[in-house]
Amino acid sequence: MTTWGWTATAALDRRLSRIGTIRCILSKMMRMQFSRLLAFAILVAMGAPLCAQQPAGAPQGTERQAAPAPAAAKPQSAKPEETEVWEPEPSAVTPGASNMAPPSDAIVLFDGKNLDEWVSAQDKSPAKWVVANGVLTVNKAAGNIETKRSFKNYQLHIEWKIPENITGSGQARGNSGVFLASTGPGDAGYELQVLDSYNNKTYVNGQAASIYKQNPPLVNANRKPGEWQTYDVVWTAPVFANNADGANNTDGSLKTPAYVTVFFNGVLVQNHFELKGETRYIGQPFYKKYDAAPIKLQAHGDPSEPISFRNIWVREFK
Ligand code: MG
Repeated sequence: MTTWGWTATAALDRRLSRIGTIRCILSKMMRMQFSRLLAFAILVAMGAPLCAQQPAGAPQGTERQAAPAPAAAKPQSAKPEETEVWEPEPSAVTPGASNMAPPSDAIVLFDGKNLDEWVSAQDKSPAKWVVANGVLTVNKAAGNIETKRSFKNYQLHIEWKIPENITGSGQARGNSGVFLASTGPGDAGYELQVLDSYNNKTYVNGQAASIYKQNPPLVNANRKPGEWQTYDVVWTAPVFANNADGANNTDGSLKTPAYVTVFFNGVLVQNHFELKGETRYIGQPFYKKYDAAPIKLQAHGDPSEPISFRNIWVREFK
């Protein structure tokens, strides 16, 4: 072999060797890819049923095992009659001619004629406010008046009007009040505020329809001075420990607080508000034991023109 021939053969051998090496590497790479693909496919196949059984975001591991069991199967034997109650039937009540008028089971406290249902809150003497033209007007000099009867839980309807020529500002503009339970003379008890709050700034827990200094109304639903306005109230009286209920605790401590719901001109303004105690001009509220109590109307001492009431009725409930 010539030198040239030897050289050419050696070069060919090196090329063939390189090609063999490349083939080997490519073959190994393909085997690796294939094995990886195969492993991935196996994992997907195993994971799919688990994913299908498990809600999104469910905890893993032992937490997943602690997931609650499916709800018990609906009993096959249940019948619709099992949840029907037939006795006792609610007693029949004839509604008023309008929703403002007293229904048949209401106690009418003022129907425009007289104050037979009312006394002075100070000394229980006959009430001395002014009745004229079917309307009851505050006599500020005579002081607060309250019902002769006492109540626990009830629904109350009462209408009131700020005089069209009202003067004053803040708390001195048509101030009065409906005490949902009168627990003593003066302003003792639980006051639902009456005030001209149509366009009259004051502290919000003292504006009309507030539970005085405890809770402002949800909205301001006042009508203009000169227009009649309505309160429809659901009063759930507080309950105190006493001998009558057979409880061991007879110290007069509070068992359940008072709650009040109020619609002002048909608008919800107090929604089952839990009172903190009696409403107080100064200081924090607290409860004092009482059993049943009169409803009281306030003769406020401010110099503004006296306001009027009409169409007052109440329905007691257990
Ligand atoms: Mg008041």
